[in-house]
Amino acid sequence: LRQANQSKLEKEKEEASNMSSEQTFIAIKPDGVQRGLVGPIITRFEQRGYKLVAMKLVSPSKEHLEKHYEDLADKPFYKGLVTYMLSGPICAMVWEGREAVKTGRTLLGATNPMASAPGTIRGDYAIDVGRNVCHGSDAVESAKKEIDLWFKKEELMSYKPANFDWIYE
Ligand code: ADP
Repeated sequence: LRQANQSKLEKEKEEASNMSSEQTFIAIKPDGVQRGLVGPIITRFEQRGYKLVAMKLVSPSKEHLEKHYEDLADKPFYKGLVTYMLSGPICAMVWEGREAVKTGRTLLGATNPMASAPGTIRGDYAIDVGRNVCHGSDAVESAKKEIDLWFKKEELMSYKPANFDWIYE
C-alpha cells in the first residue's frame, strides 16, 4: 500500500511538472532596456506565477537577428526591424509555466501597441509598432527554435521555485 501511495505521489509530481513545464522565449527589445522597463516587465511575469529559467543582456550580431526574424525577411519593415534590434542591448529571457507561450503573448499585448489593451505591456508602455518594447514566441514550436537560437543548454536553469505549490493546485 505504501509503495502504491508512493508511486501515486510520484505520478502526481510528474503531472504537476508536465502541466507547468512549457517554456517561452521573451525578449525586452533595445527600447525597453533604454527606457528602464526591464524591471516592470520581469515583475509582470513573476507576479503572474511564471518561473524565470534563463536571462542575459546581449548585443546579438546582425546575422543572429536575421536568423531570429527569418520568417519576416520579405516584409517591407524587415530591414528597419533588424536595425531597431541592433540599436542597443536586448534582455533575453526564458520563462516557464503552464501555457507560458500563449499567456506570454497575452501579457505582451498585440503586435501593434495601438491595438493593445491597457494592462498589457505594450498597451501600457508603447505606441509605435516599430518600437513595441518586447518580443514573445508565438507558438510552442517557435519557442523551442528561439530558445535554441538565443541560449546554450547549460544557460537554462532547472529548479523548483519556493512558491510552486502555492501557484499550482
Ligand atoms: P510579434 O513580434 O508580435 O510576433 P511579428 O512577428 O509580426 O509580431 O513582427 C515582428 C516585429 O516586427 C514586431 O514585434 C514589430 O517590432 C515589427 N513589426 C511588425 N509589423 C510592423 C510594421 N508594420 N511596421 C514596422 N514594424 C513592424
